[in-house]
Parts: sequence; C-alpha cells; structure tokens
Amino acid sequence: MKESVLIKEVEGLEHGKAFIGTEFAQAIFTNTTHLIGFCFDGTTSFRPGARFAPGALREASYGLEDYSPYLDKDTQDYNIVTMGDLPIYPSKWHLTNDFFMEMVKDLRLPEDGIKFLTIGGEHSISYGPIVKYLEAYPDLVVLHLDAHTDLRDGYLEEKYSHASIIRRVLDHFTPKNRLIQYGIRSGPREEFKWMKENKTLASSLKECCEWLEGIADDRPIYLTLDFDFFDPAFFPGTGTPEAGGEDFHGFMRILKILNRKNFVGADVVELAPMLDPTNNSACFASKVTREIMLAMNK
Ligand code: MN
Ligand code: MN
Repeated sequence: MKESVLIKEVEGLEHGKAFIGTEFAQAIFTNTTHLIGFCFDGTTSFRPGARFAPGALREASYGLEDYSPYLDKDTQDYNIVTMGDLPIYPSKWHLTNDFFMEMVKDLRLPEDGIKFLTIGGEHSISYGPIVKYLEAYPDLVVLHLDAHTDLRDGYLEEKYSHASIIRRVLDHFTPKNRLIQYGIRSGPREEFKWMKENKTLASSLKECCEWLEGIADDRPIYLTLDFDFFDPAFFPGTGTPEAGGEDFHGFMRILKILNRKNFVGADVVELAPMLDPTNNSACFASKVTREIMLAMNK
C-alpha cells in the first residue's frame, strides 16, 4: 500500500494501515504531530456511524496531494505520524478515554513539541485531548466550530455525551482560558442565551476572523471541529446535519489565521462516512484534515 498524505510510515513502526482496527502504535515523538483515530460513536443522538470515520478519512487521503496551494505548504516537509486507532470499546467511551489519558499523562506537549490531531468518532471523544491541552497550556483558547451548542449538562443520562462536550470542557476552564464558538445554529434557547451572555459566539465569519486576529500571536489555540459545521449540501455524511452551514472557503479563511498563530492542537469529529454513499464527505474531511495538519506545523 503506498503512502498517502495522512498515512506516513515511520521507520521501525508498523502503522499506517488505512482501516479500522489498525494496530495502535503507542510511540510518541518529539517535535511531531500525531494523528490518532478515536473510533467511538456510543452517545450519538441521531444517526450513528462516526466510529468508521478514521479509517474512511485516511483511506480517502490516498486521493490527496501532499501539497496545499492554500497554505503553500507540503506534508512531506513536517514530522507527522499516523498512530492508527486507539483501542475500541464500543459503547464504553471512558475506557478508550482512560487509555488516551494514561498514554499522554507524563507528556510535556509544549516543551517537547508534541502535538495531537485526533480523528473522531463523535464529539465526546474531544474531551480527553482538550483536557490534556488545558493542563499543558494554561492560557489555551478553544475554538469550537460546530452546528450545535454542545453545552447541555449531560444528555439522556449520559454526562459525557456528544451533546455535552463543550460543557464538560468548561468544567476544566480557568479565568485564563477563552472559548470562541462559530457556526452554531442549533440548540436550546438557554444555551444561546448563555453564549450571548458570555460572548463566546461569533455572529458572523467576519467577527470570528476578527476575534481570532485579536489573539496574541504566541497564545496557544486549540481547534475542535465538528464536521456538521459545514453545510450538509457539501457535507451530508454526518450524524446530525443542520442546514445553513459554512463552505470550504469560509473554513479556510479561519484556518489561514490559525496558520499564522500559535495553533497547537486539534480534533475533527462527526464524519459518519456510511451516511454519504458518494464518499464525498470522507474526501472533504480528508482535505480539511490535511489543511489543519499543515496549519499546525510551522
Ligand atoms: Mn458537536
Ligand atoms: Mn454538531
């Protein structure tokens, strides 16, 4: 199998296979971006299937160039490794999350130049990576791109639901952190009220870009991207589609700002490849992931 953009073999490691269940390579490198698959969709509230995203996304990357004309960067020029997928425990989110937390607990992310780009799974998988990043970077900015508020204090008796992910992340915030949300167009009235009161929700692409431009260049930024941020016309392969979303170009306006900032980590969630029989959503997700990966590397 040839190498692809999101699958880069590293000497001595048996990883890089494009399918779900790929043996997980528990090797962390300094000054390297690590792609990890987190195949979990046990709290999905509408249409399941996000557990198949990491394999589909990597497989779709075979059709991608290494070079991004948008950022004038090439994945060949950076240390990027694919670790495969975390061990999968269907319907037991916390077991996989515990595995991830145990693996990263002694890592010094900024000091050793270690970065993670986690591929979900549904949005609850972002919890572990974001909590680790909040510990590592006390003044972290979390940028949340999504169609949904994700601010419920639990959903259907599940505290760590994909509908609660941002609320659970806020449990770990200090006054030094900042949350910026954009693309949100679905959620209960009280959550919109909360976003308004706390000034977390950018009302337009322009405002989102202005807020990001205003962040100090050395301040760390983490992106959690729920693919339903995009309009379902472009991205139907997601569990909870919402009309009225952004397109690729709008996203790239945001990413070009992150490319100039201290962009330290990201996760991409909620691709459900089987819901799009054309496979365009997986190809779209793959390209977006390449751009994120490149923007994270200087
Ligand atoms: Mn979400
Ligand atoms: Mn969503």
